[in-house]
Amino acid sequence: MAAIQDAGVRIDGKEIAQRVREVVRARVAEISDRVRPGLATVLVGDDAPSAIYVRSKHKACEKAGMLSVGVELPASTSQAALLAQIDELNAREDIHGILVQLPLPDGLDDNEVIERLSPAKDVDGLHPVSQGRLLAGVPGPRPCTPAGVMRLIDEVGVDPTGKRAVVVGRSLLVGKPVGLLLLERHATVTYCHSRTKDLAREVGEADILVAALGKPGAIRGEWIKRGATVIDVGINRTEDGLVGDVDYESAVPRVAHITPVPGGVGPMTIAMLLSNTVDAALASLSA
Ligand code: NDP
Repeated sequence: MAAIQDAGVRIDGKEIAQRVREVVRARVAEISDRVRPGLATVLVGDDAPSAIYVRSKHKACEKAGMLSVGVELPASTSQAALLAQIDELNAREDIHGILVQLPLPDGLDDNEVIERLSPAKDVDGLHPVSQGRLLAGVPGPRPCTPAGVMRLIDEVGVDPTGKRAVVVGRSLLVGKPVGLLLLERHATVTYCHSRTKDLAREVGEADILVAALGKPGAIRGEWIKRGATVIDVGINRTEDGLVGDVDYESAVPRVAHITPVPGGVGPMTIAMLLSNTVDAALASLSA
């Protein structure tokens, strides 16, 4: 396959995430005489991609000078035992952020576990209190992937004010919060989902397009408005390796900016998690 000519339009998420992580490291050093931010991850079961994500979160924490605690439980763990584990982490003074790796194995209730987190330690921004704060537009931890999406849009100098933003996907983890963050920044937001009648037409309206549907290459370049900014959240494992939800090759000639997969949104998620954990550690000092 010929090399894709994407210089000038490709958003380098790896490089931007690296800069965010350097700022985190500097903040950790600056507050080290008062608090050492601590993140606990909870991994239940033996899903290989989840284990890889958790491992990279630990490495990133350590590089930033933060405390990193990994709790690994077998897939046979009962709901009660998992909740007891969350209670224990909620009570630990050296832990400021707790991340439960989702999805949990069958038989465990994701919602009940997330609701058990102390909202002050919800660095993933998924607790109903955090989601409510997002909806109300008041400060609080923003979900990491959506926060990373906004950071990428800011980095390329695109102001969402007055622009048409189309978000494909309406999950609690990605689509819904991304749309709310764009709305907060004064974009005119359209949500698309599996029942949307004419996805191509909706996509064609977008000045800013965020794709988070989890379908490899589902969004065709020909659908995209010329000059749009495209953020591809999708991570799909295919025979050709990891690919996004946007057909990158056909999109590149039309867009002003586009994130590649891998190397776009993915690295931002961990960077924003670290940043949220430092915020939580600082907030704990005044709690
Ligand atoms: P979900 O499966 O929870 O949600 C997918 C959404 O896409 C749903 O709202 C669904 O609609 C919609 N959808 C599905 N098919 C279509 C279609 N053909 N046309 C229009 N809309 C459709 O996925 P997530 O939100 O958790 O994740 C989305 C993608 O982002 C995945 O590829 C995931 O791997 C990736 N991801 C990447 C992260 C990163 O760090 N880069 C972090 C988290 C996720 P409906 O609601 O009607 O079912």
